[in-house]
Amino acid sequence: MSNIVAIVGRPNVGKSTLFNRLIESRKAIVDGVSGVTRDRNYGKSVWNGKEFSVIDTGGYVVNSEDVFEEEIRKQVHLAIDEADVILFTVDVEGGITDLDQEVAAILRRVKKPVFLAVNKVDNNQRILDAPEFYGLGLGELYCISAMNGSGTGDLLDALVSSFPKKEAVEVEEGIPRFAVVGRPNVGKSSFINALTGVDRNIVTDIAGTTRDSINTRYTKYGHDFYLVDTAGLRKKARVNEDLEFYSVLRSVRSIEESDVCMLLIDATRGIEGQDINIFNLMIRNRKGVVILVNKWDLIEKDTHSVKKFTEQIQERIAPFVDVPILFMSALTKQRIFKALEIAIEVYENRQQKLKTSKLNEVLLEAIEKYPPPSVKGKYIKIKYVTQLPSPTPSFALFANLPQYIKDPYRRYIENQLRDNFNFSGVPLQIFFRKK
Ligand code: GDP
Ligand code: GDP
Repeated sequence: MSNIVAIVGRPNVGKSTLFNRLIESRKAIVDGVSGVTRDRNYGKSVWNGKEFSVIDTGGYVVNSEDVFEEEIRKQVHLAIDEADVILFTVDVEGGITDLDQEVAAILRRVKKPVFLAVNKVDNNQRILDAPEFYGLGLGELYCISAMNGSGTGDLLDALVSSFPKKEAVEVEEGIPRFAVVGRPNVGKSSFINALTGVDRNIVTDIAGTTRDSINTRYTKYGHDFYLVDTAGLRKKARVNEDLEFYSVLRSVRSIEESDVCMLLIDATRGIEGQDINIFNLMIRNRKGVVILVNKWDLIEKDTHSVKKFTEQIQERIAPFVDVPILFMSALTKQRIFKALEIAIEVYENRQQKLKTSKLNEVLLEAIEKYPPPSVKGKYIKIKYVTQLPSPTPSFALFANLPQYIKDPYRRYIENQLRDNFNFSGVPLQIFFRKK
């Protein structure tokens, strides 16, 4: 499970520029997943072999004058709650502002690692202006230029070496970890309560001091599983959760810690942009996915309702439509047991390791039937396929000219895999490699 770094700071100091720089190292690596677009505010990075997530909290702030300071305060508190490491960015050009002071005052009380990046130090002259920021009382300064990259290597070295040692989370291998996610009021707590028979709305409100997440093990209905219960879920909203960003940010950690995510959608509202953002977060993290349309009891149903809802959802989540969709009610407990069963099935689909012989038998035939189109008169030959030994299903296809194989063909291969094996609810990675 990777650490989460949150970038905070007032507008225009260069947070999004820094965000892009931090995730750059990773961008170069082809993801191998079809149809996943880059998120402007959430990304994965790797430095000195340590993987971590980066969140640009600023990207979500509403840019209107009066909500300004209040929003930044919320942003900082949320970063404190949800991230492992805080990266506070200031701008050397403007010197210390009131808002910087205010953020620093909050951060000085935080027990998590806080790094102070003085940005826009593009040249030696500006290094002379930087020491002013010691005045924020946050210790060491990291002079950087997000724009040209100088100083970011040292910052990253320090950042990744500060990562708290994850307490060896006492989870037993081979037992699925489920996360229940969705926007506010969709019924997450109700569903968890119904499933476990325990009221889990424990309120804890001390910033940055609570354990970030708890995996509680259950044996229910003859199944053994963990529910990932994050601080974000337990704590009742300190911030206005209507803002899309907050519920997305609150989902990040539970998603990262789980094997399979149950995404709740409110039947009375249908699938919306915010749901899609959370969905994409799951896919980007290559988690198993089950979509649960909750509050189904409130819908006036006819014989077409399920079909209509299903089509609407599939339209929004395309191209990854091989996802189980279930209609349930946390209130009446209709199909909550079924939801658990399906999540377990997705977990098993995600665990499976295909035999190389079977894989080649199926795929090579499909490839022969529809070979990759030749490029510039060059004939592309795929010789064999193997499943990689990674924790989530990923496949390597060895070819003479892998660089010429384009995304539509990757999608064709993915569809063949899905048609011939059961990968329902499971994102697949497909790589083309040189042989
Ligand atoms: P945010 O609002 O904090 O996300 O700030 P942005 O990343 O959007 O940057 C605000 C402005 O500062 C943009 O015009 C950037 O090009 C500029 N900027 C960002 N980083 C640097 C830097 O290292 N040096 C200089 N000179 N400008 C920068
Ligand atoms: P959360 O914010 O996602 O944890 O949502 P809650 O579990 O707190 O539920 C929000 C509201 O929706 C509460 O008033 C619940 O009683 C209600 N609710 C949750 N699930 C259902 C359901 O399946 N049917 C109906 N009718 N109401 C529900």
